[in-house]
Amino acid sequence: MAWVLILLIVFAVSFFYLMFYDDKELSPVAVPAPKNKEKDQNKPPTTFKDVAGLDEVIEELQDLVDYMNNAQKYRALGAKFPKGIIFYGPPGTGKTLLASALAGETKASFYPVSGSEFVEKYVGVGASRIRALFQKARKSAPSVIFIDEIDAVGSRRNIDNNSEKDQTLNQLLVEMDGFNSNEETVIVIGATNRLDLLDEALLRPGRFDRHIYIGHPNLRAREEILRVHTKNKPLEPNVDLKELASRTYGMTGAHLASIANEAAILAVRRNKKHIGNEEFDEAIERVIAGIEKKNADIIEREKLMVAYHEAGHALISSLLKVNSIGKISIKPRGQALGYVLNLPNEDNFLETKTQLLNRIKVLLGGRAAEELIFKDVSSGAQNDLKEATQIALTMITSYGMSDIGKRVYDNQCINDNENINREANKIIDECYKETIAALQENKDLLEEIVKKLLEKDSLNGFEIEEIIKDFRMVTAS
Ligand code: ATP
Repeated sequence: MAWVLILLIVFAVSFFYLMFYDDKELSPVAVPAPKNKEKDQNKPPTTFKDVAGLDEVIEELQDLVDYMNNAQKYRALGAKFPKGIIFYGPPGTGKTLLASALAGETKASFYPVSGSEFVEKYVGVGASRIRALFQKARKSAPSVIFIDEIDAVGSRRNIDNNSEKDQTLNQLLVEMDGFNSNEETVIVIGATNRLDLLDEALLRPGRFDRHIYIGHPNLRAREEILRVHTKNKPLEPNVDLKELASRTYGMTGAHLASIANEAAILAVRRNKKHIGNEEFDEAIERVIAGIEKKNADIIEREKLMVAYHEAGHALISSLLKVNSIGKISIKPRGQALGYVLNLPNEDNFLETKTQLLNRIKVLLGGRAAEELIFKDVSSGAQNDLKEATQIALTMITSYGMSDIGKRVYDNQCINDNENINREANKIIDECYKETIAALQENKDLLEEIVKKLLEKDSLNGFEIEEIIKDFRMVTAS
């Protein structure tokens, strides 16, 4: 009887605790604590000077800075400012950096949190954290709330039937509606990689109604980002940031920051006073392909197969003039046994059907070379095939570039539409046949590239051009 009483008391106490939990610290026993507690960093040291290559976005945010600093001026004329902004785009492109720079440019307090901090097992906990966050921010207005990975709380309500998440999202909506931008200067910035996942209600006017895309930096932007991240690093005079930028196509600001840092660490390790091109070369390859495996014992036949595979990519790329080749290597790095560094032409904003098909052929060049020479194929083409499939599917489902129609298919169709899959197979098979034929016609050149590659383990763009110059390339019909 006494035990039953004790149990009842324990139950009643814990239930009481869960019911009345508000913005107090969470007990690690009762409910798991959030990974990072909200930080009230009154003024982040970051400013727009730290953000490179995003001039248009910064220009767009300048009036917001003025509003945050002089809200009365705007209110006097009845001008309203958005309460919520969404930054969306690929990871590592500077969304968090930009939000903190926005706060740094103003008098605002900065509240950076991650959406995942509000995802909890216990119904109501996420919602109460949202309430507490807004309470704090409103109290110390002007303030900027930054919710990274906002999709963790803001994805569409019918996607998964999760009542804790729904409550958290509802609370976010309530809070967005609850403050009056005429009286309180609070801006909420959400960041996501997938705008399409967010609940419509969140994007409605008066909530997160300004959407700013932050994409991969172009050549000029990459040079500027490298400049920002090498500002306090002594460089050898012949280091050319523009040239480095041209070799980092497709990389984000986060990659470039990491390259600058890796290069500096390598220079220290080599007891150098200045960072040179060798360090940057190594850092770029590390970021693209991982750390070089100096002691990897690759058996001869595998090495030969890798050499033909990489030479196949490079040869098709040169034949079809898809990319200039920066380097081919058969020194294992990270998970790759070999790799080709491409230097794509960045002047194009559009891609034609022919260009997309050519990209598929370059991707298939490695597998095709294996089959042509060894009459067998390896598992090394997995990523190439994945990427080629993706291009083919996008051509069919988004660009209307296939025989099954000039229309767009939504995501759900892709998985279960037999026609789409059959068409993707057809595109890839046809590209593959043409790639094999092109390699067959230029087999001598392929052999020569492989011979040189085996001698030196890697060839730079200039060396590849020299080899190709001596051969008459037979262009695919
Ligand atoms: P995620 O979507 O993964 O949260 P993100 O877009 O928020 O990524 P950030 O966290 O802002 O990316 O970027 C990571 C780091 O990369 C920054 O701290 C900064 O060092 C560097 N970086 C990214 N973009 C830029 C940029 N435009 N200018 C200067 N540095 C940048």
